[in-house]
Amino acid sequence: MNNEIYLDGNATTCVLPAAAAAAFEIMGQRYGNPSSAHGTGLRAKVVLDGARQCAMRLLGVGAGRLMFNSGATEGIQTAVLSALVAVRERQARGEPVGTLLLYGATEHKAVPEALAHWNRLLGTNLTLTALPVDGDGLHDLVVLRELAPDAAMICTMAANNETGVVSNLAGIAAAMQDSGSGALWMVDCVQALGKLSLDLAATRIDYAPFSGHKLHAPKGVGMLYVRAGAPFTPLIMGGGQETGQRSGTENMAGIAALGVVLAALERGDTFPSHAQLHGYRARLADALRAALPGVVFNNPFDKALPTTINFSVPGVSSRELMDVFDAAQVRVSAGSACSASKAAPSYVLDAMGVPLWRSAGAIRMSFGALVDEATIATACARIAHCGAALRAGGLIADEHAAPEPDDGLLQLGVDGECGWMVLDAASRSAIVIDPLPDMTARITAIVRGHNYRVLALVATSGADHAPLIKALGAHYDDQALTDGYGWPAITAHRLTLGDGAEVNAIAIGSQVLAQTAGGEGTRAYLLGTADGARLPATNVRFAFAAQPLAPSPVTGPHTLLCPTRDTSNQLCAGRAEIKATPDADLQLDCGSLDAFLLAHPDALVIDVREPSEFAATVMPAPGGRVAHSVPLGRLVERASVWLHGDSCQPLVFICRSGNRSMKAAQCLRRLGHTGSYSLTGGLALAPLPLAA
Ligand code: PLP
Repeated sequence: MNNEIYLDGNATTCVLPAAAAAAFEIMGQRYGNPSSAHGTGLRAKVVLDGARQCAMRLLGVGAGRLMFNSGATEGIQTAVLSALVAVRERQARGEPVGTLLLYGATEHKAVPEALAHWNRLLGTNLTLTALPVDGDGLHDLVVLRELAPDAAMICTMAANNETGVVSNLAGIAAAMQDSGSGALWMVDCVQALGKLSLDLAATRIDYAPFSGHKLHAPKGVGMLYVRAGAPFTPLIMGGGQETGQRSGTENMAGIAALGVVLAALERGDTFPSHAQLHGYRARLADALRAALPGVVFNNPFDKALPTTINFSVPGVSSRELMDVFDAAQVRVSAGSACSASKAAPSYVLDAMGVPLWRSAGAIRMSFGALVDEATIATACARIAHCGAALRAGGLIADEHAAPEPDDGLLQLGVDGECGWMVLDAASRSAIVIDPLPDMTARITAIVRGHNYRVLALVATSGADHAPLIKALGAHYDDQALTDGYGWPAITAHRLTLGDGAEVNAIAIGSQVLAQTAGGEGTRAYLLGTADGARLPATNVRFAFAAQPLAPSPVTGPHTLLCPTRDTSNQLCAGRAEIKATPDADLQLDCGSLDAFLLAHPDALVIDVREPSEFAATVMPAPGGRVAHSVPLGRLVERASVWLHGDSCQPLVFICRSGNRSMKAAQCLRRLGHTGSYSLTGGLALAPLPLAA
């Protein structure tokens, strides 16, 4: 067992060892084509028939059909195609048929997408209508009763993939019955398999798709149940496999493995009981409550599968939570797996009427049915560790010890735009340059969290800072009079720049910030150390401008040019034009890193992830070195120090996936540091140590 705690079972699960062995056996020993009449084929066919018989008993298929396919997305297509072909035939015969395609508002995207696709392709011209759910995520049966008589097809799920909420299938069936609906009914049973008992033929469900990989079988295998007498049209035609219902030589490795999982379910000796699963969830929920103050659970536990928790934490985004859990080797997801890379609000939680901050910040923690006591115990310990890391990183308040305040230059980036904060920890004063509205929460958290006084909020081109000023409240030194750029009309200092111009300046700690002309209609700001009443070019560490400042006598050879637009992720630039280095020349992979570090004992390993990710890390740094934490937003400050020092000391940047570290290494190379490298693929590809 490795060090990873996998709590994303609703996205996919590991393959049951006995199922993997069965797949292996069928690929090596029983590799025959089950359609072949010879002995090798017959040995494979026994496995195919055995898996089907087991599935039919387990799901109560009765006289209905049960075909193997590639997974639930295919099963959904087949069900929708079958239903809509029947609708089209009725339309052609002039028979009455509903006009609505009704689907639960919290369905997996495969359902509305398939409905829209086949409705368009078949020209059935039905109206797609989302059936609302209540605050618990249960289908609104009153609306269903109203709409069902006019529905041609109704699609609902047995259990939701984001919340685990178990649908009231009996209530839906009754609403369809009472309202006299003749609609065909598909129930997506993907998340229910192995967790809810199903007796399909005893219901009026017409179609039920299943997927193997959600229940410890491999990806690429699934099943579709079709009620006896329900319309059926094959999606794939060819050699007539699966009695002509789904052509194509069967995925025997997948089917053999799924057969083993189904047999284990039938025997009831492999997976934990419901009571055990409820106990595991209660322990995870307690651990979350203890570690994350104010945590809110978005799914009603009493109405959901015991294997799913969906939660949000006030003031912490789902991206931040995901990154911290990932650093602690705890795999969770933000919303559904398909949209996990974008931290968009969850449409499932939106449909439940959950407030936006919760739906945009939601984390799903779900465990597979194979979870055991030891995994839950480690998961709870890691959750506590993540809570501590979020406190250390300042993302949640710590009533016992405030984290060290930041000092120096901090870059705040949002989608190619960047703002900057100049922070002086000793005097607890700050100046903000080009804040964007999206940065308000972050700036306010830093300022309030460490009790900074904001001396000025300035812009390179005109900007409205009123909302930020309001959010900062008494922390902002309100200047009665400012120019159109937020610069105070009266400043205590007058300084002479390298070009002889006399300008106003604000002192912050031992440094000064001076305002000068930028490009057309804009202002630039210079940060450095004054020499009496002068700010010589060589003393200017950073220059902030809307467009890169042309070399001029006010900046020196070591001045770093800090953009306020950074669409190409440059972070900052130097005055000298240095040719871009091909990415391949900067990359070190995990295999070559050890040798590199042995050959360069003076190399520094720099971790550019956020402080909370760094604090949450449970893996030793690659190459056995101690990594130094320099989050990407602090890189420019540190770059100015590295460049002044021994600029040949090798720097190996690391991060989660190799993305941020590549930006850092490229930035240093462009600034003339010839020994900067990035760990390819990031820590995600580093070998996982074995669990203690
Ligand atoms: N339906 C639900 C509820 C799911 O959770 C998923 C998988 O995420 C699917 C359908 C699609 O399943 P498959 O990956 O087998 O195509």
